[in-house]
Amino acid sequence: MLYSNLVVIYQSLEKTSKRLEKAAILAEFLKNIPSTELATVVNLLQGRVFPQWDSRNMGFSSRLMLKALHKATGASLKSIESSWNKLGDLGKVASELVKNKTQVTFASQELNIKKVIINLQKLESVEGSGSVERKVSLVAELITSASPEESRFLVRTVLEELRVGIASGIMRDAIALAFDQEIKVVEHAFDVVGDFGEVAVFAKKNALSSLELTSGRPLNSMLAILVQDIPEAFKALGSPAQFEFKLDGFRLQVHKSNGKIKLFTRRLEEVTKQFPEVVAVIQSSVSGDSFILDAEAVGIDPKSGKHLPFQHISQRIKRKHDIALLAKRLPVELNVFDIVLYNGKNVMDCSQDERRKLLEKIVKPQKNKLKFTEMLTTGDEKKAVAFYKKSLDDGNEGLMIKSLSSVYRPGRYVSGWCKLKPTLEPLDVVITSALWGEGKRSEWLASFTVAVKSGEKFVEIGKVGTGVKEKVEEGVSFEELTKLLKPLIISKKGREVKVKPQIVVEVAYEELQKSPTYSSGFAMRFPRILRLRSNEKVVNDVNSLRDVERIYVVQKGKV
Ligand code: AMP
Repeated sequence: MLYSNLVVIYQSLEKTSKRLEKAAILAEFLKNIPSTELATVVNLLQGRVFPQWDSRNMGFSSRLMLKALHKATGASLKSIESSWNKLGDLGKVASELVKNKTQVTFASQELNIKKVIINLQKLESVEGSGSVERKVSLVAELITSASPEESRFLVRTVLEELRVGIASGIMRDAIALAFDQEIKVVEHAFDVVGDFGEVAVFAKKNALSSLELTSGRPLNSMLAILVQDIPEAFKALGSPAQFEFKLDGFRLQVHKSNGKIKLFTRRLEEVTKQFPEVVAVIQSSVSGDSFILDAEAVGIDPKSGKHLPFQHISQRIKRKHDIALLAKRLPVELNVFDIVLYNGKNVMDCSQDERRKLLEKIVKPQKNKLKFTEMLTTGDEKKAVAFYKKSLDDGNEGLMIKSLSSVYRPGRYVSGWCKLKPTLEPLDVVITSALWGEGKRSEWLASFTVAVKSGEKFVEIGKVGTGVKEKVEEGVSFEELTKLLKPLIISKKGREVKVKPQIVVEVAYEELQKSPTYSSGFAMRFPRILRLRSNEKVVNDVNSLRDVERIYVVQKGKV
């Protein structure tokens, strides 16, 4: 199949923001794709070259793209960079460059999907000396054969920013519509295989029910909705409910099949090699031929047996060398809380209560190595509040609260699990620099670096774009912020502008973390702009570094 056929669909999808229309366009297209190309096409439609569960990525930066465009079109790096500054989107830059070029030379050969996927998948595995040059050549080769519009989408795909607006729900509905399947059945199939490409192939064969959860292949983790207090949790989940300590570690999915253990993070990255102590304790202390367990790995002080904050052990996740040494110095304890597959059988649809009981039957705790999450099942508000306090006193983040009857639903915020943690006061901060957006947002400043006060100076504490609206009537908008900030620009570098610190915004966040990235030494986790405060507050009223330090201590339950 020609890549141009796919580009026609990208263009139609771009033109509408209506979910139903997008699903209908996709469904019509998918119906006629041969089975051999269906999985690839479905993934490319979502801007992927690997299935969602596969953690490989192309690792191709904007900088490399400048080189690829230079190689493919002969334009100078300087002129490419300046048109990037002007257009704000490398996809558009590519399209312009190719347009100019095709006036003199004709593309040698039409691009097909097979060639596109082969070259893009290769990007992941290119290693060693000369690898940059080879990666650049793989992309440049495609751009050389591409039309202006093809190059626009190619570049965006390679940069992993396709942005034609196909959320999971739309792809699910499109597959159901194209192959006459029930939406629920398509959704369930996706839950177990984590790849719409494969789901589409099985839907076309009318064989969705044969797709099974497989040990060794990660699935999306179940997620929780934030509640404000215990009564709200009872209301959402029913009473009694299961309360568990919410630990400050990282999610770990533990798979066993054919005698082998594999570990995956919440982002579905495999980290088996990084955690030999977890592999060993699972081998020795969990019975069963095959299983998938859900757990939180937490740093532990081997002497006191006390949990350590996540920051202590975060370096272990990406570590590739001296692993045994680090495992000794910064060991983790695995706290198991769920099971989704046991001896080949999918138990996702069993109740929370049944799954926990099964887990307790097959896991034998080992001191400082393996345990169950601490848990209380109660319908009594007072007991639940006391348990919450105990969790915070122990240095945990709060509580996870689970409905006793809930099934396991991967990857979605459904009301089966809730989380409760102390809410932190929002910060008033000042914008000190901003980044021009890309694509649809190229007319606007779209990401904002914000700062708090430290004496007479401002120190940066994070970057935020979330919470800002595309439409003026919905709240603080990109347009409004851009208008306010443009006259304050002091200097420019690439897409970044420094501005006079004058515009104050209120920012909410989930947590403060120590971070070397920003000059304050702190960073906000999941920041979002709540409102513009320039009408109420002047720059001098923004929060201080001292406020930040105080909140940091309070959040850890250390006062
Ligand atoms: P959050 O990251 O704030 O959305 O909270 C959800 C995360 O809390 C999960 O992805 C787990 O990594 C973590 N977590 C800690 N303790 C538990 C627990 N007892 N049950 C489930 N998840 C937990």
